Amino acid sequence: MIRIGIDIGGTGIQVGVVTESFSIIREESIPTRKDLPFEEQVRLIAECVVSATEASGHSVDDIESVGVGIPGIASFSTGEIIKCTNMGWNHVPFREVFQSFLNKPVFIDNDANVAALAESVAGVSAGSSSSVFITIGTGIGSGIILNGRIWSGAHHIGGELGHVIFDLDGVPCSCGNHGCLERYCSATALIRMAREAVEDHPESQLLSLAGQDPMRIEAKTVFDAMKSGDPVAQSVFRRYISCLSQAVASVENLLDPEIIVLGGGVSKAGKALLDPLLDEYPQYVLFNDQPLPPVKLAVLGPEAGIIGAAMLS
Ligand SMILES: [Zn+2]
Repeated sequence: MIRIGIDIGGTGIQVGVVTESFSIIREESIPTRKDLPFEEQVRLIAECVVSATEASGHSVDDIESVGVGIPGIASFSTGEIIKCTNMGWNHVPFREVFQSFLNKPVFIDNDANVAALAESVAGVSAGSSSSVFITIGTGIGSGIILNGRIWSGAHHIGGELGHVIFDLDGVPCSCGNHGCLERYCSATALIRMAREAVEDHPESQLLSLAGQDPMRIEAKTVFDAMKSGDPVAQSVFRRYISCLSQAVASVENLLDPEIIVLGGGVSKAGKALLDPLLDEYPQYVLFNDQPLPPVKLAVLGPEAGIIGAAMLS
């Protein structure tokens, strides 16, 4: 038997055929077509599932289930997609329409939740019954696994660590509030801090590495400048690590999971990120004289979206 994992993104929809041992044996993609009516979009996705399945050497009869990860919120029980801004979907009966084209069990969940599930079954947190996955990219995404299952809340809107408020009068957030955690812990935040720092320190390597153009500073620029000993980059990074440490400590104070996993673009910095974080985060944990969870880097990469969706059940 095979399972289908579908990762719905802003520009493309990836469809993967996944084996029972969690490997992707065939992957196909189609562009997102927001211009088409909802039913037509779903029909194209179902056609892509059939095509990928057949190209993998299987038949539609071999499909055990179809899982979908979306950048939005969905009701796991009814199969309704409640909100998915990228696709322009509001309260659409995804499962019902999909099953009119391909009658298989269909499960839908948020993309960060799905990635958390993938890591907890086939990745770095495999074997744990509770974990929190934090993805550090343009924003901050998070997924909570409790007792081996995704916890997205009683109303499907939980697990939004990025919008926990950090600073009452802080930096404005895209959600309309001020001071949300993702304004301090995302890649975007690290870049903002670096750009602010070079206003007072034009001599910093942050600026020379970016060709004297602050708008060309990226997260990687900060790591590169730090490696060559630039004190301004080191100070920016210390501030960033303090913010991220407080975020990780808040997760620990609230949920005390077996393991905390970091993914997303910034996590590619590896030990340069992890070591200072592991040193600092315990100081913000209330019961820090007790054993604390390890913080580890995600191992599945972008394939977590497909693998995790396929594992939904
Ligand atoms: Zn926010």
